[in-house]
Amino acid sequence: MKASKLLMPTLREAPAEAEIASHVLMMRAGLISKLAAGVYSYLPLGLRVLQNTERIIREEMNKAGAQELLMSALLPAECYQKSGRWDRFGDDMFRLKDRNSRDFCLGPTHEEIFTQTVIDSVHSYKDYPYTLYQIQTKYRDERRPRFGVMRTREFLMKDAYSFDISREGLDESYKAMYDAYRKTFDRMGLNYMIVDADTGAMGGSGSQEFMVISDVGEDTIAYCEDCRYSANIEKAVCITGEADNSEMLPMNKVATPDAKTIEEVAAFFGKEAKDFVKTMIYNAEGKLYAVLVRGDREINEVKLANKLGVGEVALADPADVVEVTNAKVGFAGPVGLKIDIVADNEVMKMRNFIVGANETDCHIENVNPERDFTAAIVDDIRNIEDGDICPVCGKQIKTAQGIEVGHIFKLGTKYSEALGLNYVDEKGEENPVIMGCYGIGINRCVAAIIEQNNDEAGIIWPMDVAPYKAVVVPVNVKDETQLSLAEKITKELEDAGVEVIIDDRDERPGVKFKDWDLIGIPVRITVGKKASEGIVEYKLRAEKEYTDMTAEDAVKTALSLIKK
Ligand SMILES: [Zn+2]
Repeated sequence: MKASKLLMPTLREAPAEAEIASHVLMMRAGLISKLAAGVYSYLPLGLRVLQNTERIIREEMNKAGAQELLMSALLPAECYQKSGRWDRFGDDMFRLKDRNSRDFCLGPTHEEIFTQTVIDSVHSYKDYPYTLYQIQTKYRDERRPRFGVMRTREFLMKDAYSFDISREGLDESYKAMYDAYRKTFDRMGLNYMIVDADTGAMGGSGSQEFMVISDVGEDTIAYCEDCRYSANIEKAVCITGEADNSEMLPMNKVATPDAKTIEEVAAFFGKEAKDFVKTMIYNAEGKLYAVLVRGDREINEVKLANKLGVGEVALADPADVVEVTNAKVGFAGPVGLKIDIVADNEVMKMRNFIVGANETDCHIENVNPERDFTAAIVDDIRNIEDGDICPVCGKQIKTAQGIEVGHIFKLGTKYSEALGLNYVDEKGEENPVIMGCYGIGINRCVAAIIEQNNDEAGIIWPMDVAPYKAVVVPVNVKDETQLSLAEKITKELEDAGVEVIIDDRDERPGVKFKDWDLIGIPVRITVGKKASEGIVEYKLRAEKEYTDMTAEDAVKTALSLIKK
């Protein structure tokens, strides 16, 4: 490929909205261009990276025995009405009508279609198991598309489903995907962690996420360096410390007129946030609950929803809060409340804490759970934090931010029961098929690779995903000796099957080097003044130093690295 012919609109500056390295570098290196919020085109170099990422996934899926198919992105409403998700998806779903006013959507996910495909195609229990996958475009009308291709409204996904007739079969299918995912992300050069994930209120027996460790990750991971325990924040188990056994003091209502924030109230009492218990009024699918955690903790809404057996919870409307507490928002407390109380485990071990008094500008001190209120539910409903106790070995938990690139999930019979995917066993009895689902966000993999592989000059692609593996740079294209040696090297690499660029542009060498460092081509062979002696400079993008060697050695060295 000649650089002079390559569409590569590199930029000196990224647009101001690009906040993270991968977004900045994808824009600057000319890999993508933006059409609308969360909607991007992949330009030639970007598309090559995307296709290489796809190829790795496809190869590992095929090796694991999964079969590829391809489903439409345009889906009739009936597909989702049967499972109830036509309504549940809400505004996240792109909806449209055809010329006959029939409802359609652009598929946000394909569980229903995979299930229906197996209903239509498989008839005997003897045919199972199957693992099917596709690499296909999904659409979700994200409320906040951001971070370049990390969170977009159109994205490529590899989604796979396994169909088994026994729990053991599901375990095997799941394990095969687990192993394939490890190979996939290893080949992408990613540093990742496999964490236990939440399976939701609907059940499912196991779930793990593949998290790329990165400060820009939107997910929090809890892990232990001593015993290798790791889980995402929805799943991580919080262990409660020793109970406080100090003497219960008499309860006392205190006027706190000018204190609004928890800091101001704490200062008023001369205490810290951890001496308080926060009471938050939540709405769980129409029912109100008072939810209690220690003053310096955060409620985990996924844990809370799971414990309440609902799909989702949200903070109650201010009007509801005023009605149940008879006070302005900010003064809720458990004493005397008429709605059910959900308390975090830790709250039950505290003594003599401070709460809102259900009266504007008032708090109560010396509240004790065993004496002053009754909790309907006591459970683990808070976020784990740095320094928490590891639930496995008792040492200290650490937390990190992660980018979720893959997710594997033992679905069980949720979709097969909802949609009627059954098999008839040897006794003639009908049973639901047991399913697993396995996703990889492909665009997000590209962004994650960049987040973990860059420096101040640009991207440093791992070989397997690099858009081109090598670039040959004649320093002066008007020098016949340099140009012809550069062309010879390029041809030899091309003939050996290497994707290579020759930079035939009439530019200063500094400009050329800057572009290739920004784009991140792994191998650079520079042909300069020593061309007459057959000597070139060989340099790797990942290293600072270059080496003088003969053109033959440069080709050989490059081939041994690229063809590994
Ligand atoms: Zn541990």
